[in-house]
Amino acid sequence: VAQKMEEGKSFALSNQLLAWYDRHRRVLPWRALPGGAPDPYKVWLSEIMLQQTTVATVGPYFQKFIKRWPTLHDLAKADLESIRQMWAGLGYYRRAQLLHECARLVLRNYKDSFPSSENELRKLPGFGPYTAAAVAAIAFDQRANVIDGNVERVMARLRAVKTPLPKAKAKLRALAEALLPNKRFGDYAQALMDLGATVCTPKSPKCSLCPWISVCEAKAKGLIEKLPRRVPAKAKPQRRAIAFVLYDAKKRRVLLRRRPAKGLLAGMMEVPTTVWSEKAFPKLETAQKEAPVRACWRLIPGVVRHVFSHFELELKVAIASSSYTKSGCWVLQDRLANQALPSVMHKVIRHAQKHEREA
Ligand code: SF4
Repeated sequence: VAQKMEEGKSFALSNQLLAWYDRHRRVLPWRALPGGAPDPYKVWLSEIMLQQTTVATVGPYFQKFIKRWPTLHDLAKADLESIRQMWAGLGYYRRAQLLHECARLVLRNYKDSFPSSENELRKLPGFGPYTAAAVAAIAFDQRANVIDGNVERVMARLRAVKTPLPKAKAKLRALAEALLPNKRFGDYAQALMDLGATVCTPKSPKCSLCPWISVCEAKAKGLIEKLPRRVPAKAKPQRRAIAFVLYDAKKRRVLLRRRPAKGLLAGMMEVPTTVWSEKAFPKLETAQKEAPVRACWRLIPGVVRHVFSHFELELKVAIASSSYTKSGCWVLQDRLANQALPSVMHKVIRHAQKHEREA
């Protein structure tokens, strides 16, 4: 009897959230309209893009991808380089490669449509536990416990969990599991995400708009601003290098090279640099051995900084002109936007261009 009562209470909560969702759901380009059937391809593409990236950043990329490759079949048939070019600027570049691998595998093994179970999805390239749960719930309305940072925050507040993250993860997952509804699993997963993103926000949550205000323990105990607690993140190590921006004699083109197929920024284009090292900046005289050509290199003032997930990179920029090079490829300066060039390398080139304009 006690278990039935608990279930009844949690279904009441999930129903309240679903009713809230029916009135306040966000309109997102990858989301089906109310009552409409979700497109698994769009759900998957958006979930891969949203890993580590915000909804606002993903929006325009998602639209560009869907316009160019409207179906999974189209994406599977695309060449990897054009996917990388379209992905440039979105970060975590391995995702572009895994996206392509996954599309090809689904086309080959599942005849063009994704499997619907969380376990089967989990085996596909680019799928972690979160993405498998999200796609199973949102695209196929399967019962799945979809936990992202938003959901963890809502659970920590709703149940006043004081254990700090990441230690609290298993507990928050169990609390979310206990609240799952017995129907509309896809809507419920999206409702929780929307609640976290628009109402139970990290700073100044809008509790007066929350469907769970009357049962929220953090609200009752005045702990909202303190939860979720987190173990403070360690400072990221710094790496340093010199980047070599080589212009051709007329300064219309710059030299780029391709990064190795494995590792950070795999397969993307880059401005040649010295090895990214945790030591101090190398001297230009020694660094020149790693330059793409022998030339009259000179360092320009300033440093370009970029934050990666596990370290911060500082780059000093050296420039030179030469029409000779043994390796790499020349790219017209006004065509850089069409390259698979990550944001950090755009920053380097913009830094050099600014210096040239001001010189
Ligand atoms: S009442 Fe406030 S803190 Fe509690 S779940 Fe709702 S928005 Fe979050």
